[in-house]
Amino acid sequence: PADVETLGRGTWTLLHTIAAQYPTQPSPGQQADIKGFMGILSRLYPCWVCAEDFQKFLAKSPVRTASRDDFGRWLCAAHNEVNEKLGKPQFDCNLWEERWRTGWKD
Ligand code: FAD
Repeated sequence: PADVETLGRGTWTLLHTIAAQYPTQPSPGQQADIKGFMGILSRLYPCWVCAEDFQKFLAKSPVRTASRDDFGRWLCAAHNEVNEKLGKPQFDCNLWEERWRTGWKD
Protein backbone atom coordinates (compact mmCIF):
# COMPACT_ATOMS: atom_id res chain seq x y z
CA PRO A 1 0.00 0.00 0.00
CA ALA A 2 1.01 3.61 -0.46
CA ASP A 3 2.84 5.11 2.49
CA VAL A 4 1.02 7.58 4.74
CA GLU A 5 2.58 10.65 3.09
CA THR A 6 1.86 9.58 -0.50
CA LEU A 7 -1.65 8.58 0.48
CA GLY A 8 -2.14 11.93 2.26
CA ARG A 9 -0.90 14.06 -0.64
CA GLY A 10 -3.09 12.16 -3.09
CA THR A 11 -6.13 12.37 -0.84
CA TRP A 12 -5.77 16.10 -0.15
CA THR A 13 -5.37 16.66 -3.91
CA LEU A 14 -8.61 14.77 -4.53
CA LEU A 15 -10.51 16.55 -1.75
CA HIS A 16 -9.38 20.12 -2.55
CA THR A 17 -10.04 19.44 -6.23
CA ILE A 18 -13.56 18.27 -5.39
CA ALA A 19 -14.00 21.52 -3.41
CA ALA A 20 -12.73 23.53 -6.39
CA GLN A 21 -15.39 21.95 -8.64
CA TYR A 22 -18.18 22.07 -6.06
CA PRO A 23 -21.08 24.36 -7.07
CA THR A 24 -21.28 27.91 -5.73
CA GLN A 25 -24.98 27.19 -5.08
CA PRO A 26 -25.21 23.44 -4.34
CA SER A 27 -28.55 21.65 -4.27
CA PRO A 28 -29.65 19.80 -1.12
CA GLY A 29 -28.67 16.54 -2.86
CA GLN A 30 -25.17 17.83 -3.66
CA GLN A 31 -24.75 18.95 -0.05
CA ALA A 32 -25.86 15.54 1.19
CA ASP A 33 -23.36 13.86 -1.18
CA ILE A 34 -20.42 15.81 0.30
CA LYS A 35 -21.51 15.14 3.87
CA GLY A 36 -21.95 11.44 3.12
CA PHE A 37 -18.66 11.22 1.24
CA MET A 38 -16.65 12.83 4.06
CA GLY A 39 -18.29 10.58 6.65
CA ILE A 40 -17.55 7.45 4.64
CA LEU A 41 -13.99 8.60 3.91
CA SER A 42 -13.39 9.12 7.64
CA ARG A 43 -14.35 5.48 8.23
CA LEU A 44 -12.56 3.91 5.25
CA TYR A 45 -9.37 6.02 5.19
CA PRO A 46 -6.60 3.40 5.11
CA CYS A 47 -4.39 5.01 7.78
CA TRP A 48 -6.24 4.05 10.91
CA VAL A 49 -4.73 6.58 13.30
CA CYS A 50 -5.43 9.31 10.72
CA ALA A 51 -9.01 8.08 10.31
CA GLU A 52 -9.64 8.08 14.04
CA ASP A 53 -8.47 11.69 14.44
CA PHE A 54 -10.40 12.74 11.35
CA GLN A 55 -13.60 11.24 12.79
CA LYS A 56 -13.02 13.30 15.95
CA PHE A 57 -12.52 16.45 13.86
CA LEU A 58 -15.78 15.78 11.97
CA ALA A 59 -17.64 15.32 15.26
CA LYS A 60 -16.49 18.68 16.65
CA SER A 61 -16.50 20.57 13.29
CA PRO A 62 -19.35 19.27 11.09
CA VAL A 63 -18.78 19.53 7.33
CA ARG A 64 -19.94 22.86 5.91
CA THR A 65 -21.53 22.52 2.47
CA ALA A 66 -23.59 25.67 1.83
CA SER A 67 -21.36 26.84 -1.04
CA ARG A 68 -18.02 26.17 -2.75
CA ASP A 69 -16.29 28.70 -0.53
CA ASP A 70 -17.98 27.32 2.59
CA PHE A 71 -16.80 23.76 1.84
CA GLY A 72 -13.38 24.88 0.58
CA ARG A 73 -12.68 26.83 3.77
CA TRP A 74 -13.96 24.02 5.98
CA LEU A 75 -11.65 21.59 4.17
CA CYS A 76 -8.75 24.02 4.51
CA ALA A 77 -9.37 24.16 8.26
CA ALA A 78 -9.51 20.35 8.42
CA HIS A 79 -6.18 20.15 6.54
CA ASN A 80 -4.67 22.81 8.84
CA GLU A 81 -5.66 20.75 11.87
CA VAL A 82 -3.58 17.88 10.48
CA ASN A 83 -0.77 20.30 9.56
CA GLU A 84 -0.68 21.50 13.16
CA LYS A 85 -0.59 17.95 14.51
CA LEU A 86 2.34 17.13 12.22
CA GLY A 87 4.24 20.37 12.92
CA LYS A 88 3.72 21.65 9.36
CA PRO A 89 3.01 25.36 8.64
CA GLN A 90 -0.55 26.63 8.63
CA PHE A 91 -1.95 27.36 5.16
CA ASP A 92 -3.68 30.74 4.63
CA CYS A 93 -7.26 29.70 3.85
CA ASN A 94 -7.91 32.95 1.96
CA LEU A 95 -5.69 31.38 -0.72
CA TRP A 96 -7.37 27.97 -0.99
CA GLU A 97 -9.12 28.70 -4.27
CA GLU A 98 -6.05 30.27 -5.83
CA ARG A 99 -4.07 27.14 -4.88
CA TRP A 100 -6.65 24.58 -5.98
CA ARG A 101 -8.91 26.16 -8.62
CA THR A 102 -7.36 29.09 -10.42
CA GLY A 103 -3.99 27.43 -9.86
CA TRP A 104 -0.37 28.16 -9.06
CA LYS A 105 2.76 26.02 -9.22
CA ASP A 106 3.56 24.15 -5.97
P1 FAD B 1 0.11 17.84 2.29
O1 FAD B 1 -0.27 18.15 3.71
O2 FAD B 1 -0.26 16.51 1.75
O3 FAD B 1 -0.50 18.98 1.38
C1 FAD B 1 -0.42 18.95 -0.05
C2 FAD B 1 -0.47 20.37 -0.58
O4 FAD B 1 -1.68 20.97 -0.15
C3 FAD B 1 0.61 21.28 -0.01
O5 FAD B 1 1.78 21.22 -0.74
C4 FAD B 1 -0.03 22.66 -0.06
O6 FAD B 1 0.16 23.27 -1.32
C5 FAD B 1 -1.50 22.38 0.08
N1 FAD B 1 -2.04 22.65 1.42
C6 FAD B 1 -1.41 22.49 2.63
N2 FAD B 1 -2.24 22.79 3.63
C7 FAD B 1 -3.42 23.17 3.04
C8 FAD B 1 -4.66 23.62 3.56
N3 FAD B 1 -4.87 23.75 4.89
N4 FAD B 1 -5.65 23.92 2.69
C9 FAD B 1 -5.44 23.82 1.35
N5 FAD B 1 -4.29 23.40 0.81
C10 FAD B 1 -3.28 23.08 1.64
N6 FAD B 1 -0.45 12.05 8.26
C11 FAD B 1 0.05 11.64 9.46
O7 FAD B 1 1.24 11.41 9.57
N7 FAD B 1 -0.79 11.51 10.55
C12 FAD B 1 -2.13 11.76 10.46
O8 FAD B 1 -2.87 11.60 11.45
C13 FAD B 1 -2.66 12.18 9.20
N8 FAD B 1 -3.98 12.40 9.05
C14 FAD B 1 -4.48 12.68 7.83
C15 FAD B 1 -5.85 12.81 7.66
C16 FAD B 1 -6.40 13.04 6.41
C17 FAD B 1 -7.89 13.15 6.26
C18 FAD B 1 -5.55 13.15 5.27
C19 FAD B 1 -6.13 13.37 3.90
C20 FAD B 1 -4.18 13.04 5.43
C21 FAD B 1 -3.63 12.80 6.69
N9 FAD B 1 -2.25 12.67 6.87
C22 FAD B 1 -1.76 12.30 8.10
C23 FAD B 1 -1.29 12.95 5.77
C24 FAD B 1 -0.74 14.39 5.87
O9 FAD B 1 -1.80 15.35 6.02
C25 FAD B 1 0.06 14.81 4.61
O10 FAD B 1 -0.72 14.57 3.46
C26 FAD B 1 1.41 14.12 4.45
O11 FAD B 1 2.17 14.28 5.64
C27 FAD B 1 2.19 14.71 3.26
O12 FAD B 1 2.38 16.10 3.53
P2 FAD B 1 2.92 17.16 2.50
O13 FAD B 1 3.85 18.04 3.27
O14 FAD B 1 3.42 16.52 1.26
O15 FAD B 1 1.67 18.08 2.09
